[in-house]
Amino acid sequence: MSRTAIKCNCGQRINQKDVMQTGHYMRMFGPSFVYVKFRCSRCKKLGEQLVKQEEWEDGILKDSSVEANSTEKERFETMGPIEMRELVDFHYSLENLDDLSALRAEFEKPKSSEEK
Ligand SMILES: [Zn+2]
Repeated sequence: MSRTAIKCNCGQRINQKDVMQTGHYMRMFGPSFVYVKFRCSRCKKLGEQLVKQEEWEDGILKDSSVEANSTEKERFETMGPIEMRELVDFHYSLENLDDLSALRAEFEKPKSSEEK
């Protein structure tokens, strides 16, 4: 049983961990596609490929070579998708980083020549 796989020009099969970016191409007619941008783990070249939406959802990248073990997979599954709340928390935690706020103060500080 052969299934469509994403492959680099060098023949290396692309796994989940090699994927850098994905995007969806929705079309009014015909199959929709998923755009996949990857860096080959063997030749380190960037590549891109369009795969059919249905093949993508079929788990084109899921196979035994995925590095996460079953314990990790279970943990990821219980974590669920990233929620907006978590994104907001992340955003604020970035803003509150000491070095960033120091950097921002540096930018917002009026120039000494303009001080009166
Ligand atoms: Zn390659």
